[in-house]
Amino acid sequence: MSSLGNIAEIAVAAPLPKTLSYSVPESLQGSLCIGSRVKIPLGRRTVVGFVLDRSDGDKNGLKPIREILDDDPLFPATLVPLFRRVADYYCHPLGQVIATALPAGLAGRGEPPPILWETFVRPGENREQPRGQQQRNILALVRKHEEVTLSELRQQFSHVHAPLKRLVELGMLQTRKAEKIRDPFLDWPTRGDTPPSLTQDQQQTMEQLAPLLTDGGFHACLLHGVTGSGKTEIYLQSIAQIIADDRQALVLVPEIALTPQLVSRFRARFAPKPEELKENTARIAVLHSGLSDGERFDTWRRIARQEVDIVIGARSAVFAPLSRLGIIIVDEEHEASYKQGEGLRYHARDTALLRGQMEQSVVLCGSATPALTSWQLAAGGKARLFELPNRVAGRPLPEVELLDMKQEPFGTQLSQPLSLALEQTLEKGEQALLLLNRRGFAPFMLCADCGKTFRCPNCDITLTFHRQERKLRCHYCDFIMKPPDTCPGCSGCNLEPEGIGTERLEMELQELLPDARIARMDRDTMAAKGAHRKLLEQVGRREIDILIGTQMVAKGHDFPDVTLVGVLNADASLNFPDFRAGERTFALLAQVAGRAGRGERAGKVIIQTYEPDHYALDCAARHDYQGFVTQELTLRQALGYPPFGYLVNLVLSGNQADRTRDAATNLAQRLLEGTKVELLGPAPCILARLRGKSRYQILLKATTRQPLRQALHHLENMRQPVPSGVSLHVDVDPVDMF
Ligand code: ADP
Ligand code: ZN
Repeated sequence: MSSLGNIAEIAVAAPLPKTLSYSVPESLQGSLCIGSRVKIPLGRRTVVGFVLDRSDGDKNGLKPIREILDDDPLFPATLVPLFRRVADYYCHPLGQVIATALPAGLAGRGEPPPILWETFVRPGENREQPRGQQQRNILALVRKHEEVTLSELRQQFSHVHAPLKRLVELGMLQTRKAEKIRDPFLDWPTRGDTPPSLTQDQQQTMEQLAPLLTDGGFHACLLHGVTGSGKTEIYLQSIAQIIADDRQALVLVPEIALTPQLVSRFRARFAPKPEELKENTARIAVLHSGLSDGERFDTWRRIARQEVDIVIGARSAVFAPLSRLGIIIVDEEHEASYKQGEGLRYHARDTALLRGQMEQSVVLCGSATPALTSWQLAAGGKARLFELPNRVAGRPLPEVELLDMKQEPFGTQLSQPLSLALEQTLEKGEQALLLLNRRGFAPFMLCADCGKTFRCPNCDITLTFHRQERKLRCHYCDFIMKPPDTCPGCSGCNLEPEGIGTERLEMELQELLPDARIARMDRDTMAAKGAHRKLLEQVGRREIDILIGTQMVAKGHDFPDVTLVGVLNADASLNFPDFRAGERTFALLAQVAGRAGRGERAGKVIIQTYEPDHYALDCAARHDYQGFVTQELTLRQALGYPPFGYLVNLVLSGNQADRTRDAATNLAQRLLEGTKVELLGPAPCILARLRGKSRYQILLKATTRQPLRQALHHLENMRQPVPSGVSLHVDVDPVDMF
């Protein structure tokens, strides 16, 4: 609780450079908390703001706060320094940082979901029996269960209102109202588990970690463990220590929908068993984008009231309003999805490190393929490194074969060796996983007569053909058109889908292996809520023989009977025009390979490629992370790219190409005059047109952060960095450059 003060510092979710001061009226003195939302006058409007601080001072000329909107604060005061730091680091208005952190509807645009209430009925002091039959029935039921909800009573009995009222008057029953928490995970089955005895590697790691967990300070830790080495067990045991100390744990995972197994493992270890479960007592909360607004709002408030010990969530959960944070775990810390691509372009792992520093907690980042920047932090002594070099139970890593597609007949999509391996896997009654990082039926439609292709009118790319829905689709803006029957260019009728996507692979594979049970996992088939979980459970129950999918299939799934993994187009990600293409490809291959042979039987991986000699593929095939890192770091150093340099990308976009380009040229000029950074561009973005806008970028580069910060400061102080009709986005530490 802050000391009282007659002036409040308030942030508003608007592009304002500074926070605002308001006076605290007498009537609100006692109830105004840091972390509450308030209504304040701003100009001629009334807006929603967040209370960040209270102080005493001269309130002359300050307008008063109108109203407090929440009974309980939405975030603890301990989070305010993080918000400030993130706003500063990512060059984003503080109020908008907070709006990004909070569940939707709390920042003034729209209303938050209503709070639901539930009435609970329990036996009262009066232990006698009532006279009426209805009253007796209701009373018997309540006495039997000790506490029931009013809605349960209504389900059981046709008349509840009058008899209940009477029973309460008689003192035989009493009621209380409590919030009804919307939480889709509360009814997830929890089978309890007992911690296994640790492997030697795990034990060693825990011994070194333990003192860091108990000393109450900030420690950045990197857990580098090969796939299947038991990193999750390290997370679980670290958390057990933290909560035994009455502190809290935050677990970040790349995308919850894709990792229901992980959530289950945490629940198995920590969630109360059904018999212990009274309402709202589960100590685990799960926060992710798949929740409804109501579920998200309720979960958030439960965390803000400090009713949970463990929060598991995707990217934005890094802002979860825990106030006694002891550890932040960032699982699969190399994942690009930790970086938000619009608005506040923050990176959840980096934000976790900032938060750990501010709140003095351990930050444990785990991966089989750590990001080069994280690896370099450890190498430079800024993070502690822990290694799990072996799979548990002495299981070998799978054998990986790089299959040179130049040796296969031209146009082959599924090579002979891979289809043979699939057949053998099925014969043995084992399962296979196929990665093809391209959804849809075919990447484009081509006129065989005149060579015409179909492009998105809004974006600078070809449209993907989706066969089942008979549509050509833009994968960036979702523009849709019906494929014409004849070519609009030459009126010929030889329009043909070219190349292969997951939809086509599924169809062709089903023709090849008619008895196989094949399922597909990509954004098209996984649109429905809970679809991932259902499909992954089917795979777990062995109702699926072959799972085909985009990179979704590479995530941390643990299926002991998957013994074959095939990768169809390993080169696709290698040829991206991005300095991280090698790193991404290596990580993707190592991760997907890591799905094979996790059980008793050994696994095999076949990677189809046109570039089998590329070091990223070669190292992935040999499970040689160190080797990859050594070569990749040499390249990065030569070019001054991260981790040897720092980048800020300025992206300008506008409806008119000329105007946008001129604005970029002009801005670059002004930046050059004021700063000492290296400036690349302006140049058209790789996606030079996106959703109807022309796009240009200016890349700022420096060997230390200081000059970049200066440049950003200079930018912030410019009166009008870009003219109207052009918008500017600042991307600090960009992870892709499209
Ligand atoms: P990672 O996260 O490193 O890929 P997991 O944590 O998923 O690895 O562990 C792989 C498998 O090994 C899981 O099925 C897990 O239950 C099991 N496992 C982990 N640690 C142990 C242990 N100490 N003893 C036995 N089994 C373990
Ligand atoms: Zn488009």
